[in-house]
Amino acid sequence: MDQTKQEGGYGYDLFPERSKRKYKEGSIAERLFTFNNKCQVMLQFAMETSPYAKLLLSAMKSSGCKILKDRHLSCEDCDGTVSGGFDAASSQIVLCQNNIHQQSHMNRVVTHELIHAFDHCRAHVDWFNNFRHLACSEIRAANLSGDCSFSQEAARLNFGLKQHHQECVRSRALRSILAVRKISREEAEKIVDEVFDTCFNDYAPFGRIPHSNRDAKFANRDYENRDRYYANL
Ligand SMILES: [Zn+2]
Repeated sequence: MDQTKQEGGYGYDLFPERSKRKYKEGSIAERLFTFNNKCQVMLQFAMETSPYAKLLLSAMKSSGCKILKDRHLSCEDCDGTVSGGFDAASSQIVLCQNNIHQQSHMNRVVTHELIHAFDHCRAHVDWFNNFRHLACSEIRAANLSGDCSFSQEAARLNFGLKQHHQECVRSRALRSILAVRKISREEAEKIVDEVFDTCFNDYAPFGRIPHSNRDAKFANRDYENRDRYYANL
């Protein structure tokens, strides 16, 4: 396995704006540009209203990794059809402003990337050299973000299979790994299968698989009430 950090080997070619500067300040001119502005508005809305995002943001805050919108989230143009990414080098989440056009899509992308940020915060994840770590976080992100929820799957006409949720999670995790690492499909499949059961059954911080906004709201409520019993003693 080639471990050298050659250009393009870590998915940075998908995020052309990443190489231009360390992290984005966002000039007034840029903020007025429509795609960027729309992305910022949808992002703000997701952070304030999505129960998935709200839970992840409060879980990160209580783990000592408070997310600041201007420092840790960045709306940028991306190549191809990618919707978002987590840049572990700068601890920043990238939202692809040219590929996200609907609020529901923004909510899912923010949630997916926040799960990576949560994993980065709670564990010492070696994103670049340990493919098992990357695979585990991709499995969790696909499983818990709603990427594979019924309406998403139905939209892709994949419903009807008994194990379709697991299959969806597996194939999305594989696709994510292959998009950002130079690795063969066989090797990626082997790694995903090795860590699948452990990572698929790790629901932190949701405590369940949130299949809908309603599930995520319950998970969020449970999370917020987690200390109440002890506080009332
Ligand atoms: Zn991912």
